Amino acid sequence: MSRTALITGVTGQDGSYLSELLLSKGYTVHGLVRRSSTFNTERIDHIYQGPQETGRSFVLHHADLTDGVALVNLLREIRPDEVYNLGAQSHVRVSFDAPLYTGDVTGLGALRLLEAVRASGIDTRVYQASSSEMFGATPPPQNERTPFHPRSPYGVAKVYGYWSTVNYREAYGMYAVNGILFNHESPRRGETFVTRKITRAVARIKAGLQSELYLGNLDAVRDWGYAPEYVDAMWRMLQQDEPTDYVVATGVPATVRQFLETAFGHAGLDWREYVRHDAKYERPSEVDALIGDAGKAEELLGWKPEVRVDELARIMVDADVRQVQDELAGVTVRVDR
Ligand code: NDP
Ligand code: GDP
Repeated sequence: MSRTALITGVTGQDGSYLSELLLSKGYTVHGLVRRSSTFNTERIDHIYQGPQETGRSFVLHHADLTDGVALVNLLREIRPDEVYNLGAQSHVRVSFDAPLYTGDVTGLGALRLLEAVRASGIDTRVYQASSSEMFGATPPPQNERTPFHPRSPYGVAKVYGYWSTVNYREAYGMYAVNGILFNHESPRRGETFVTRKITRAVARIKAGLQSELYLGNLDAVRDWGYAPEYVDAMWRMLQQDEPTDYVVATGVPATVRQFLETAFGHAGLDWREYVRHDAKYERPSEVDALIGDAGKAEELLGWKPEVRVDELARIMVDADVRQVQDELAGVTVRVDR
């Protein structure tokens, strides 16, 4: 019989790739969409199935991680085999401007979902989207045994979600796991995260639409991987005999400056001619270096990354160049390229 999954954050970068992966495995996928005054389904429009279609395998529901009753009702109705909690206010810089909201959605939201699973009495496996931002100030390399020292309201909220997940596993015997994912990017990455901001700027500069790019701290070190590979790790985490937590990373460090070098270089440009500093993009407390050790995921899940940071930058620049060309030609832009 076909398995059923519920994905919160289905309209986000990871939610869109995970939906594609689960559909390709024959799942029926239910996605939680929050109400917006504008369309927020661009990343999943290519797999959308309208309510009039019969035998749908991809079904969207309006709800919100701040609404615990809606979560219980949804779980009772769908009775999923697997739940992936990807929904979050996911932007670190924004979390300093909206700390309580971030705590509510990203931290308490995880607990609301776990409690909704418990209250609805269904037998389901839960994936919690934990983050390398939880390690914060603790120096690299970071793995499952590294102590947390978050440096932002986002990081603090993710620590709350992490421990809620561990607690529901220990208290109620729930199959609940944390995927501690390091930064992962793609052509579908939100435009205000630094990688996408850079690759989009490269494409626009190349097309003569932009002449400057304002950035904050260029010295930060990150371990950037490729999002489609990371959602495969999420799925593997829910297919094991025993629930446990995993780090997912490439182990390859790069500074923002190195990413600039590769991305601009790929388009035949010198980043120094275009990049300007704006303190607005700095954080009150920064995470200097994140470099993951994913040895446990490789050993227990058989998961290994293929795409490293330089190839990632090239993939993203190429996609943004195509997108800008399409925009200029007035072609409807498709997200699934
Ligand atoms: P995105 O920001 O692309 O997607 C976040 C999703 O959460 C969107 O679908 C968004 O909806 C939804 N959302 C926001 N607020 C609410 C709410 N109140 N109720 C329900 N849904 C809500 O993030 P990613 O896909 O990149 O990341 C997925 C998850 O993994 C997130 O939890 C993120 O924090 C975490 N993570 C991501 C990493 C990365 O490098 N990408 C690294 C480690 C962890 P809408 O489209 O309407 O905004
Ligand atoms: P994060 O690791 O989840 O915070 O992912 P981001 O892509 O938002 O930021 C990665 C790093 O790039 C952080 O250390 C930021 O301080 C740094 N950075 C430098 N300039 C910018 C910028 O203009 N926007 C963003 N989002 N990050 C920037």
